[in-house]
Amino acid sequence: MLTLTFHGAAGCVTGFCALLQTDQGRFLVDCGMFQGPKTLRALNHEPFPFNPDSIDGVFLTHAHIDHSGLLPKLVKAGFKGSIISTRATRDLCEVMLADSADIQQGDVDHLNRRNQRRGIAPVEPIYGPEDVAPTLALFETVKFGEWLDPAPGLRVRYWPAGHLLGAASIELEIENAGDIVHMLFSGDLGSGEQPYLVRPDGPAGVDHLVLESTYGDRVREDMDLAHRRALLAKEVRAAKAAGGPLLMPTFAIGRAQELILELLAIMEAEPDLATDIFLDSPLAIEATEVFLRRGWNADASVNPYLPLRNAPRLHTLLRPQDSDGLERLRDWHIILAGSGMCDAGRIRRHLKRLLWRKETTVLITGFQAAGSLGRILLETPPMVRIQGDDVRVNARIRSLDVYSGHADAPALMDWLAAREPVRGQVFLAHGEPEALEGLQDRITAAGRSGDQVTIPRLDQTFSLTPTRAEALDGPAARLAPGAEARPDWHNARAGLLETLNETLQALPTDEERDALLARLTAAVTAGAGRGRP
Ligand SMILES: [Zn+2]
Repeated sequence: MLTLTFHGAAGCVTGFCALLQTDQGRFLVDCGMFQGPKTLRALNHEPFPFNPDSIDGVFLTHAHIDHSGLLPKLVKAGFKGSIISTRATRDLCEVMLADSADIQQGDVDHLNRRNQRRGIAPVEPIYGPEDVAPTLALFETVKFGEWLDPAPGLRVRYWPAGHLLGAASIELEIENAGDIVHMLFSGDLGSGEQPYLVRPDGPAGVDHLVLESTYGDRVREDMDLAHRRALLAKEVRAAKAAGGPLLMPTFAIGRAQELILELLAIMEAEPDLATDIFLDSPLAIEATEVFLRRGWNADASVNPYLPLRNAPRLHTLLRPQDSDGLERLRDWHIILAGSGMCDAGRIRRHLKRLLWRKETTVLITGFQAAGSLGRILLETPPMVRIQGDDVRVNARIRSLDVYSGHADAPALMDWLAAREPVRGQVFLAHGEPEALEGLQDRITAAGRSGDQVTIPRLDQTFSLTPTRAEALDGPAARLAPGAEARPDWHNARAGLLETLNETLQALPTDEERDALLARLTAAVTAGAGRGRP
């Protein structure tokens, strides 16, 4: 029997992990980390819903942490098979998994110091830096377009997905009870924006298809390179005219490199905009080396990242003290720093020291999750709280929504049309509920019958034959239906505390503050007594 189980990115966008059980063995497609709501992230700390020891191999689509981030945990738990990926994905994983391990270890060290003061026993990190080298040792690399035979009766081929350097869609031919079942996992799909990424490609005619749905309900304006560059140039010009630094919160892998190349091109075309660009992100600096080494784009016959080597205007700041040195700068300069959503990393220190200055421009170019500091800044509040300090927002806050690594709904539909005929089932994964349903509607409107498009639930299993996919009864899912995408009460609590702080601050006297706190305390204690406030 051949079965497929969705152990992640089912009903949500993170933690992609699909388990294929065949007569030949047990294989995972991706082993991603859950991100976002705390309820979902808690799954990262629980044991895997399968025995890691029993897995024979992992087929990895790309390096993003929500696809690769739990590989060290898998290895720590006893996995000894191969991890098969493209060479660029392997090299990016080397940088990203080390960074992720540092983050896991750092978070736990911080928590344990706090727990120790409260007399609570220490907790273990999901994995630590020592788990990364054994994980990298299991990687085997594959070229696009090459068939691979990882086990008897199983063939695998990787196709360019145009989403991130090295990103792949994965095609499998699986022998099952005398038949061959032909499957395709899209991985994350990009628009293959030239010259930075290769165009997405794939086979035509498969039995079953697993399709990502991140932007399944969104249509983005069509943007070519020249149009995007013109919009960015306009923002740079305005930032210079405002007199101060331009601060760009940036995702370290892919986006940072592309933005710097665009900035360099703009400065070459308009020399009066020329200035120093500071890349203040150790992760982005290390990733840049991978882009220089592996960034060849066969479609454009060029490695578009090469100008990043020895660009006189570009300064990379590895050590924290180099970052501190930026405080002495005045006037016109550009800083790129992580994290992309302003929730971690060095960008927070720059925001803290620059947001109060009206000459400063903050330009946000990436997706900002609800509740992130980046999203809050977009609403230009009078004050924000950063690392325990209240900071006045006088800076210009700008956003440019033309950079994305994901295909929008029409591009997903075009990609799907090029894969037809898909004889069996189209499974929609890797999307929030609205995006999944939006894409399902588009696909059925285009003529596919409704029972041939499935939105799988977390931990749901299907048995597969070449033409049919049948849902099986299995063990209960790790989360209640819908919990994957629902913001949990931790977010509501954080919001309430923020409102409380703002309200207290706005009250004119301490007496009024005391009175408000007394009323709230009474309401909360009365509520707790009733059990349901
Ligand atoms: Zn991705």
